[in-house]
Parts: sequence; C-alpha cells; structure tokens
Amino acid sequence: MTSPITGRTVVAGVAGRPVAHSLSPLIHNAWLAGAGIDGVYVAFAPAEDRFPAFVDACRGGAIRGLNVTIPFKEAALAAADVVSPRAETAGAANLIVFESDGRILADNTDGLGLLGALAAQAPGFDPAAGPAVVLGAGGAAKGAVAALLGAGAPEVWIVNRTVAKAQAIADAVGRGVIALPLDRAAEAFAGAGVVINATSAGLGGEPSLDTPLAATPETAVVMDMVYKPLVTPFLAEAQKLGRRTVDGLEMLIRQAVPSFEAFYGAPPPEAVDVRTLALKALGL
Ligand code: NDP
Repeated sequence: MTSPITGRTVVAGVAGRPVAHSLSPLIHNAWLAGAGIDGVYVAFAPAEDRFPAFVDACRGGAIRGLNVTIPFKEAALAAADVVSPRAETAGAANLIVFESDGRILADNTDGLGLLGALAAQAPGFDPAAGPAVVLGAGGAAKGAVAALLGAGAPEVWIVNRTVAKAQAIADAVGRGVIALPLDRAAEAFAGAGVVINATSAGLGGEPSLDTPLAATPETAVVMDMVYKPLVTPFLAEAQKLGRRTVDGLEMLIRQAVPSFEAFYGAPPPEAVDVRTLALKALGL
C-alpha cells in the first residue's frame, strides 16, 4: 500500500528524457513502502536544454536528490560542486544529491551495479583473473572500464563501432586499456574473462551486435547492460554457447542500492523482492 504524503515526505527521483519507461520509481517506491520510510520517488523529464536550470532550481535541498539517466549524465556531472572520484573517472554522474547548504554532490554508482550483478549472477567470477572486454565507448562503457580496472582486471579491451571513441578512453585511462574496432572483436574475445555489452544495440528488441561470441573461452562470463528485453539476442547467443550470463536488470537494481541510501539514509529492505516486481513490469 502506498504511504500517505505528509509534511515530512522526503522527495527524490530520476531525471531523464524519455523517462516514462524507467523502472527506478517502481524499485525505490517498493523499497520505501517495505521499509516504512516517509519518502517518495518520482520521474522528471525536463526539456533537454532546461536540465541545468532544473538542477539549479533544486539547490538547497528542496528535494533530496536525483538519479540521472540518458541524456543528462554528463550535464549532471558538470552541474555538481563536489564530484566523487568514480564519477570523475566515468565522466558522468547517475546520482546527484542536493545538500541543504546549496551544494550539489555527484556520484556514479553504475560501476558498483555492474560488479554487484556479476557477483550475484556469476558467483565465483573474479574480475582480476583475466582480461575484460567492453563493447561500446559511451558513458556506460567508460564507467564499466573504470569499475573493472578498479576490481583488478589486468587488461580491458574496448571494442567500439567508432574506434576513435574507444581510443580516446584508452588514451585517457592509460596502461592496460586497448581499443579495437568492432570488426576485430574476435581478437579481444579470445582471452576474455568477461565480455560486457555497453552499447545501446539490442535495446527494445532492435538487433543486438553481431559479434563472434564463439571466440570467447568456455569459461567467459557474458553480460548485457540492456535489460529490455531481459534476454537480448546477445545473451541468448551466449547461453546457446553455454556461457554464463548476467543481465542488465540486475545491474539496474544494484546501482539503485547506494542511491536509495543516499536519498533516504537507510539501506533498502532485503525482504522486498524488487527483481520479481520489475520482471512483472517488463511483462515477464
Ligand atoms: P551512449 O549513447 O553514451 O553510447 C552508446 C554506445 O553504443 C556507443 O558506443 C555507440 O557506438 C554504441 N552503439 C549504439 N548503437 C549501436 C549499433 N547499432 N551498433 C554498434 N554500436 C552501437 O549510451 P550509454 O553509454 O549511456 O548507455 C549504453 C547502454 O547501456 C544503454 O542501452 C543504456 O540503457 C545501458 N545502461 C544500462 C544500465 C543498467 O543499469 N542496466 C546503466 C547504464 C546504461 P558509437 O560510439 O559508434 O556511436
């Protein structure tokens, strides 16, 4: 049951455009109800050129904070007064908090979500045990590269349609990161401990990337950040090959955990099964 809104209700939300499809309100409001916290989580879709003004107007803590999604993650970072090292490394923020003194704090919890999803759905997988391959060179890929290196990956290969974008990340990060064009993916796949799709290909039933997953070792873990559909053609192919797979929904749920704590000051209640709720919302 939804709690009544009171004079003390803590307001947080997600900002994106489009945002109506976001599962974040479902996840956070289910946690709020389960924990009995007087809070609410809503979706905002500011006009693209009005995002900086929207965020500026929230200074002072009128609302507690925002998750930020496409296309505002870079703008959220630029609006912040204090930036966490992981948001700085990712070059994007998916979480901003409005302090009562007017400051905006920016963080990026996508990397934690990625590592949490790997730990949950590929138990025993050790990112430090072998090279990682990240497909894509956008904000999500940048965050993934930082998280994997932070977890001890000895090498990260970035494979992208526009190789210059992959090279730019490799140059910025430095040692241990190699950029390749998509048509040379097999070279990266051959020694991979994990392959992660951080492109938007496969989203909403569009065709997934046509990549040579059969070139990966049998022990490789294959993950897709796209969660609509839950089993993308990319993951379906990996499953057909017998690889262990990790889905984007688990990442979404796990990146939400530290956001919830930042907004409402308590961890989400473990007893609430938000994955089942999200699967139902996805029609599964
Ligand atoms: P960006 O728009 O910044 O980057 C998109 C990337 O996808 C680019 O590298 C682009 O290549 C590549 N790409 C897009 N379409 C194709 C295609 N048809 N063939 C080959 N490459 C393609 O997006 P983000 O990095 O912000 O997000 C990427 C994906 O990750 C999105 O689907 C997003 O929803 C998902 N995501 C999921 C999260 C979760 O919690 N599950 C968290 C964060 C993101 P190019 O450079 O050549 O244009």
